[in-house]
Amino acid sequence: MITVANTRPTVSSIVQSPDFPKQHFIVLGGGLAGLTAAQALLKKGCTVTLIEKGSQVGGLARTFEKEGFRFDIGGHRFHSNNLTVVNWLKDLLKSDLLTVPRTSHIYLNGQFVDYPIQIAKAISTFSPLKAAHMAVSYLASKVTERQRPEVSFEDWVIKRYGKALYKVFFEPYTEKVWGIPCNELSAAWAAQRISIPSFRKMVQQAIAPAKETPATAISEFYYPRAGFGMIPQALEREILDLGGTIYTNTSVLTCTPTSDGFEVAIQHQDGSHQTLRADQVVSTIPLDALLESIPDEWGSQEISQQYDLEYRDIICLFVALKKPQVSRDSWTYFPLKNLLFGRTHEPKNWSSEMVPDGSYTSLAIEIFASRGESVWQMTDDEILNQVVEQMDQIGWTNKADVHRSWVLRVPYAYPVYRIGYQEKLQAVKNYFSQWPNLHLVGRTGSFHYMNSDGVVEDVFRFIEKTFPETAVEVQPLTSATGRWM
Ligand SMILES: Cc1cc2nc3c(=O)[nH]c(=O)nc-3n(C[C@H](O)[C@H](O)[C@H](O)COP(=O)(O)OP(=O)(O)OC[C@H]3O[C@@H](n4cnc5c(N)ncnc54)[C@H](O)[C@@H]3O)c2cc1C
Repeated sequence: MITVANTRPTVSSIVQSPDFPKQHFIVLGGGLAGLTAAQALLKKGCTVTLIEKGSQVGGLARTFEKEGFRFDIGGHRFHSNNLTVVNWLKDLLKSDLLTVPRTSHIYLNGQFVDYPIQIAKAISTFSPLKAAHMAVSYLASKVTERQRPEVSFEDWVIKRYGKALYKVFFEPYTEKVWGIPCNELSAAWAAQRISIPSFRKMVQQAIAPAKETPATAISEFYYPRAGFGMIPQALEREILDLGGTIYTNTSVLTCTPTSDGFEVAIQHQDGSHQTLRADQVVSTIPLDALLESIPDEWGSQEISQQYDLEYRDIICLFVALKKPQVSRDSWTYFPLKNLLFGRTHEPKNWSSEMVPDGSYTSLAIEIFASRGESVWQMTDDEILNQVVEQMDQIGWTNKADVHRSWVLRVPYAYPVYRIGYQEKLQAVKNYFSQWPNLHLVGRTGSFHYMNSDGVVEDVFRFIEKTFPETAVEVQPLTSATGRWM
């Protein structure tokens, strides 16, 4: 357990100055967004207190570590086309940053097909009749679907690829990930995430496979040698070196607006309470948690009652195996609905330091499920047994290989872009916008599907907005696409 000890500031010990360099910021949440914001604010000369509910910092970007095995919350690769972001990371991790080649497959029709999907290749795993049906459906969609409004994910994909391709390639995995029908998922999500080649390109690929890498298929990525969690850990060290305060195992009770800032009441693990004063608050915690912390007299209850945004949760099954390797993949995708798991990742393929020695390997297995669903209620043993049995059928591993296993249930993993979410999100954001010194930042805090590089860019934009006179140029957001999931 990493609990960071620093002297606790009391109300009177915080310097209250109208000059921005001495402003006190309270950062809610110690994931990548909160930590990056704290680091940047300290560098601007502010004082910072960061409050994290978990026992360690990192949030979704932390690395779980037990008995010499290391697992991310689903393998986390770092990729950005934004030089400012890449240089920030290189500066932070220096020689701890590896460059890892990427190879991924999707399990279709009992075969492992290259991922991101090259549709021409994937079609070839079907019978000629079915493949022809898909091609005809694709061509027909250019006429029959032209007028289709783009409201849902289903609309967006069918309009571009036809019903047959949609049914086989897009619908099963997407519904597995999100747990809702594709006609309830917003087209905005497809537009943000899917970037796959045109039909002309697909035909070209089928006739003469391209030598260059497709735009969506990043051929290599950055990875910290002892797991993605090295990024939050390095940030934590810098924050403390810069004089910041981090409280782990501490939850936010209330966040009360005052005439010149906020009063934030927190509760430490030992049950003790503390009230801190802040000139500005950066919130990276889920929107519903922030709403709950605002006292009723500010109308928060009314907004809470109308609040209707959902986050998708995830179950991570981490399995240590007494065998040297399962596959060479970076990730493997499993769209079949009868399989409990949706995606796997073999940490050793990214860095040898993820296992205690070369005779072992491990799998980080992602099971898409939300609180309240039956799979969420399964015991850890039930989850392990079902997954291992199914993996045995695929020929990947069996019970005798299992050395150790751990199950982590992770809430708030993905903001769900259900149709109509934009209006609901706007209403919540409008409510919070009455306080210009309250900033919603990051993926979880701003309900914006971003990878970690996008989160870092988001923090840079927040800093640029807050300190325009000292802004350095941050390139526009470049990171949103790249991978369908
Ligand atoms: C399965 C999976 C795979 C991913 N793979 C990749 C990848 O390959 N590459 C990539 O770049 N990105 C990936 N991501 C995305 C990446 O993890 C996120 O973009 C990033 O970690 C989000 O950081 P954040 O700080 O915005 O949110 P979070 O990490 O959610 O941070 C929020 C923090 O707030 C804390 N908190 C919550 N409530 C409270 C409270 N009441 N009081 C105090 N603290 C609270 C939480 O404990 C958490 O630490 C993946 C995400 C998932 C779920």
